[in-house]
Amino acid sequence: MSRLVLVINSGSSSIKYELVDVARERAVASGLVEQIGEPQGRLTHEYDGRTSEWQGEVTDHTHGLTLAYRTFAETGLDLDEAGVAAVGHRIVHGGKVFTQPTLITPEVVETIDRLADLAPLHNPANIIGIEVAREHFPDVPHVGVFDTGFFHTLPPAAAAYAIDADVAEEYGVQRYGFHGTSHEYVSEETARLLGRPRDEVNTIVLHLGNGASASAVRGGVAVETSMGLTPLEGLVMGTRPGDVDPGVLLHLGRHAGMDIADIDELLNRRSGLKGLSGVNDFRTVTERREAGDPRAALAYDVYVHRLRKYVGAYMAVLGRVDAITFTAGVGENAASVREDALAGLEGYGIEVDPAVNRVRGDHGRVVSTAASKTAVLVVPTNEELAIAKAAWEFV
Ligand code: ADP
Repeated sequence: MSRLVLVINSGSSSIKYELVDVARERAVASGLVEQIGEPQGRLTHEYDGRTSEWQGEVTDHTHGLTLAYRTFAETGLDLDEAGVAAVGHRIVHGGKVFTQPTLITPEVVETIDRLADLAPLHNPANIIGIEVAREHFPDVPHVGVFDTGFFHTLPPAAAAYAIDADVAEEYGVQRYGFHGTSHEYVSEETARLLGRPRDEVNTIVLHLGNGASASAVRGGVAVETSMGLTPLEGLVMGTRPGDVDPGVLLHLGRHAGMDIADIDELLNRRSGLKGLSGVNDFRTVTERREAGDPRAALAYDVYVHRLRKYVGAYMAVLGRVDAITFTAGVGENAASVREDALAGLEGYGIEVDPAVNRVRGDHGRVVSTAASKTAVLVVPTNEELAIAKAAWEFV
């Protein structure tokens, strides 16, 4: 029987997909459709060590998925013949309803649609992905895996905002957290690499990609995370600011003539590294900083300072920290961020080994000294594999 699961991450203007062999825990093929709905769209597809590219207008998500489907066949892997056993869908917001991977039925789609108020850019795009994929694969289970799911265990003290409780209740205003699939996968991998049972290990996970979030995981259970009602709260990100005094927004509304749409645009597209330095890609920030650009230097410092604050806060939340684990594009690759964020914490039992930390690698590894009471690790995240495995459970 086929062990192939197609994973679909249908975003607002892009679709990421990966065909995963769950038995061998590896990607067979993967691809990305970008700039959907714009005049110049693009598809990049990888299979068998080759990259295929296509450029042109991708009118909508249906068109995008059809192109992907066709590219599979054209590059030698016909999905109809390969025998896809299940489709896993990344769904951004599960609200309080979806805490576990869920078999998708028409009722489930309706509920995801209702939750779109909480994630207006994401949930509708996720639903389109589900609908189109079900036309292509009507006879296999489709499973939704929710970004918020892993954080449904946040204790009330961590989940509640200290605002009028009636308003919060009526509008579902609480902290939900995001990137849950990654935090769960990475915290499990951390325990595995340390050779200890998951329920005995306390971990701080730092997921540092374009979006960035931190979590505190006690014995496999999430007890804190930096993202809130939306993915804006917490760490400094590529284009999002993380924590900001809400008074800043009131001030801009009153004095800068900004309305809700302007503030939305400021917070989602013109903040974070981009806002501080002009560019959102961490590599470019690093290059400019090394070339002496003061704005890039400040962006780096704010980024690292925020990380340290969260590490310190989560040490206090957990009490005992066995591991601090870095993941995603920046976390896996930027050795200086790992070193700078944890510098000077020897007194707390945290000691990065500078030489080991600088060795590049694509496998999970420990980068702290033997004397470090808290292990510091780098663990490549693999959300697609985690989603594929979750979907496979339903086959
Ligand atoms: P996404 O949230 O889109 O999945 P990724 O996890 O791919 O994001 O992370 C993207 C970020 O990782 C970008 O800011 C990119 O510059 C950064 N990054 C990738 N490779 C490196 C590297 N070698 N050094 C520093 N940063 C890197």
